[in-house]
Amino acid sequence: MSTVASPSSPAFKVLHNHANSLARSGIYHPSVVPGVASAIATPNFLIPTSRGTIQHLTPDNVQRHVKVPGVYIGLEDFLDRSASRTQLTEASTTLRDYVSLLPQNGLPDSLIPIFLAVRRSNPVPATHANSDTNVAMATSDGFNSLPLTEFFSIVQRLKDSATVVISPLDAPTLPVSKIGGNRVKKMISRNERWSLATLKTLGAQNNVIVPVLPGLTLSYQATYLDSLITKGEEIYGKALDVNIGGISLHGLGSSFVEPFVEPELPSTAKNIELANLPAELKNGLRLNLSYLTGPHDVLRAIRNGHDILIGDWITKTTDAGFAFTFEFGNHHHQADQLQDDRQKKPISIDLWDADVFKVDLNSLKQDCTCYSCARHHRAYVTHLLSAKEMLAWTLLQIHNLHVANQFMERIQLSIKNGTFEEFVTSFTNHYAEGKFKANAGPRARGYQVKLAGNTTGKLNESPFSKNFAEPQ
Ligand SMILES: [Zn+2]
Repeated sequence: MSTVASPSSPAFKVLHNHANSLARSGIYHPSVVPGVASAIATPNFLIPTSRGTIQHLTPDNVQRHVKVPGVYIGLEDFLDRSASRTQLTEASTTLRDYVSLLPQNGLPDSLIPIFLAVRRSNPVPATHANSDTNVAMATSDGFNSLPLTEFFSIVQRLKDSATVVISPLDAPTLPVSKIGGNRVKKMISRNERWSLATLKTLGAQNNVIVPVLPGLTLSYQATYLDSLITKGEEIYGKALDVNIGGISLHGLGSSFVEPFVEPELPSTAKNIELANLPAELKNGLRLNLSYLTGPHDVLRAIRNGHDILIGDWITKTTDAGFAFTFEFGNHHHQADQLQDDRQKKPISIDLWDADVFKVDLNSLKQDCTCYSCARHHRAYVTHLLSAKEMLAWTLLQIHNLHVANQFMERIQLSIKNGTFEEFVTSFTNHYAEGKFKANAGPRARGYQVKLAGNTTGKLNESPFSKNFAEPQ
């Protein structure tokens, strides 16, 4: 049996509970060894990576110009069809060194926390099925399945105690209401087996996040969680709340943590989750792994008590050539009344629109202090986009990350000050939910589309059109 490191405190600490919703602020320590990686103030986001890199940013730009609360890395990015043979596992290096994730501002104690899972965030559906021992995945050159034991040995070889390991989830592709009772039982036993194996093998070295199962009825969910806790305690003695680094949730509410219902808040609503979640898991981190479309979704998840969310919406905005212009906690918006979506302000501007921006010398967002806004103007970014210069997306990503960070900091502060709900109301009254143009971004990659059943048409248009005539 593995020996268990005893961290001096649980990985997650709630600092403030908001009075009028399930929103809470807290602090998460991603490493079982204190002080190794930067703590994450919550609510906050993780930036999904592509082969370990934050899209559009080189490691030195990440170090100098942005603040990254944490990154999400999918191991499948580094594997090929012969899963165990990969440069990552053959290199004698940590994952952090392999992907060149430098300490922020050059301070060695400001390591960016890494959350590692088998699959990338919002993964392409795999054509293989999971088995009791293997996780199906989409590798860099095709579908395959990874033995769970191989996943464990890769993580152990990477020897990085600052990495948070997200235990894989076995969920059916169909909604749970549409699958048979046997599949539900298989799903429960498989997730229990996978979560316990992950805790047992890696729990001493890494914080482990275990899934709450999407779509289950309360009684099935309770069966799963109770069994996880009972068997987990056999492994760990009585210290399970210390060794489980948190739970992962899928969806804005979840089948277990009931959605926060608007507009009337029943007096018992705040207790729904407290009554249902076992004490051992109640105070753990809640990591939302679902796809959120933007700040409106982020606010919904936070109101339902989620602590860390995936920041796909930030990179998507950058890909589309948009710059965030929204602000949370702006007192000037408080007078706004609920109005028609068409009268509301957009959360971002479309820099592709040369008619509007080609002579606009303002910064991307008024009073923004990011690197991009301090040195460049909208017209320049519009020019770079039309010239398909990669620098356009670099400047946009720096800016959009800056605005997203400010959004999270203001949310944390408003939960502390008790003004969160007021600001959510004024935010949703002032801003319309954004929508992106399809394929407006840089070259699409295979993992960005649902591969299964989608083989018609090209992902990217040819950069050279037929109208591109030879000079006479
Ligand atoms: Zn800016």
